[in-house]
Amino acid sequence: MKMTEKAKINLNRVPIPKQAPEVRKANFGEVALGYTEEQALEEANRCIDCKKPGCKEGCPVNVDIPEFIKAIRDGNMPEAVRILKNKNSLPGICGRVCPQETQCEMTCNLAKKEAPIAIGRLERYVADWERAHPEIIEQQKGRISSNGKKTAVVGSGPAGLTCAADLAKLGYTVTIFEALHVAGGVLMYGIPEFRLPKAIVQGEVSYVKSLGVEIRLNHVIGKIATVDELLENGFDSVFLAPGAGAPMFLNIPGENLSGIYSANEFLTRTNLMKAYLFPEYDTPIQVGKRVAVFGAGNVAMDASRCALRLGAKEVYIIYRRSKEEMPARFEERENAEEEGVIFKLLTNPSKFLGDERGRVTAVELHEMELGEPDASGRRRPIPKPGTEFIMEIDTAIPALGTRPNPIIPSTTRGLELTKQGTILTDEATGSTSKEMVWCGGDMATGAATVISAMGAARRAATAIDAWLRNHS
Ligand code: FAD
Ligand code: SF4
Repeated sequence: MKMTEKAKINLNRVPIPKQAPEVRKANFGEVALGYTEEQALEEANRCIDCKKPGCKEGCPVNVDIPEFIKAIRDGNMPEAVRILKNKNSLPGICGRVCPQETQCEMTCNLAKKEAPIAIGRLERYVADWERAHPEIIEQQKGRISSNGKKTAVVGSGPAGLTCAADLAKLGYTVTIFEALHVAGGVLMYGIPEFRLPKAIVQGEVSYVKSLGVEIRLNHVIGKIATVDELLENGFDSVFLAPGAGAPMFLNIPGENLSGIYSANEFLTRTNLMKAYLFPEYDTPIQVGKRVAVFGAGNVAMDASRCALRLGAKEVYIIYRRSKEEMPARFEERENAEEEGVIFKLLTNPSKFLGDERGRVTAVELHEMELGEPDASGRRRPIPKPGTEFIMEIDTAIPALGTRPNPIIPSTTRGLELTKQGTILTDEATGSTSKEMVWCGGDMATGAATVISAMGAARRAATAIDAWLRNHS
């Protein structure tokens, strides 16, 4: 790079406007407000259009990142939409929740010396522009001619929607079977409104439908029909994307007391069933004044921040390791801290205590210290003897991760599983041990990320297309 070019680079990325912490902790409105046109242009102008762009290598769905940023710089927004949507059918979602800091932004060439380009924020800007100009996507969609083949997709989370969209664009007739009464998976029932507004998810679901994909809601595959029955009844292939929605628990005494919710139940009531709008919506939720959330991933951050917004006075994140090992995105941890969530690190629970009515009143905790790294590469937490203490609480939320629901494996002949209960797949193609059946997303990897689910779905769509072309 020439010196003159280098001097032009703005060392600081353009910050994204946000609701102030003291305001946002009392509402479910979106925290980050998105770039204005001027801010997006300023950030896009920091991109130096590298000859060998590292950003592209870091994107699991192969978005042409420098090209869409150039289109923003050129003021050609329809072209920015076209480039982005060519590889990513859910850009409004990805621009809000994907961990770009460990993907395209980490591999952006600028990251070696200064702040990488805010690729996620620019992606969100383009997606939001498109939402405000729906006629553009109509003009760009073009005509898709049917190839006469039928694919069934199980689950309408990011993996299912992505595979369905890619196959529909290739001319397949795609039907998604979704167990819940709305499409979107974790994007609808897990991630809160203040991080990912449900209207954004439903806008992108509508785009997938506009490609000709049919979504059948309230259809639990394994109950209403099995995978084998789908294949016997005319589908030429099946893509399994049922996620990993079964919660894990602490397995300590007292965990059945009332006032203790799995993070899944707590977030589903709050987000999908809109308990924060009770009585306008039917589902209530009871949140006390002192809430303890166990775990330190994105799910724990979401649960703690929902509890604050639902009126809790003190919300604690209780985590057995230290800050360095926390799996949550840095941005979400920072947001939680700014809103007043209290982090109790190197601390673990040993039992819950309750009153005569069976309600949780306290948790016994003990201190931990870190030993040598374990199989995960993180330092192993070890209990410190004699450090037990009692903390009064009235609500507890274990947020320890999830595992796959066994309904599909237990009702499908010939599907090989891993020791963790996930479906065994070929990583490059998503193929399973059963012919004509592919799988991707959390069901194949265990709980992971939106973009890794989408990347697996894209690879599977390519493999399904190749296989069906050879097996007419
Ligand atoms: P899911 O999103 O779980 O979708 C699976 C769908 O299949 C569901 O709709 C389910 O109802 C349906 N289904 C299940 N079984 C059946 C059946 N038998 N028949 C029909 N349908 C069925 N990732 C990020 O990248 N960034 C984040 O900030 C982030 N935050 C998160 C916050 C929370 C609270 C949670 C729980 C997860 C978060 N994740 C985040 C992880 C991310 O959401 C998941 O990795 C991703 O949604 C997995 O996508 P999927 O399509 O495999 O499954
Ligand atoms: Fe722009 Fe970074 Fe990609 Fe280079 S690597 S083209 S600076 S986004």
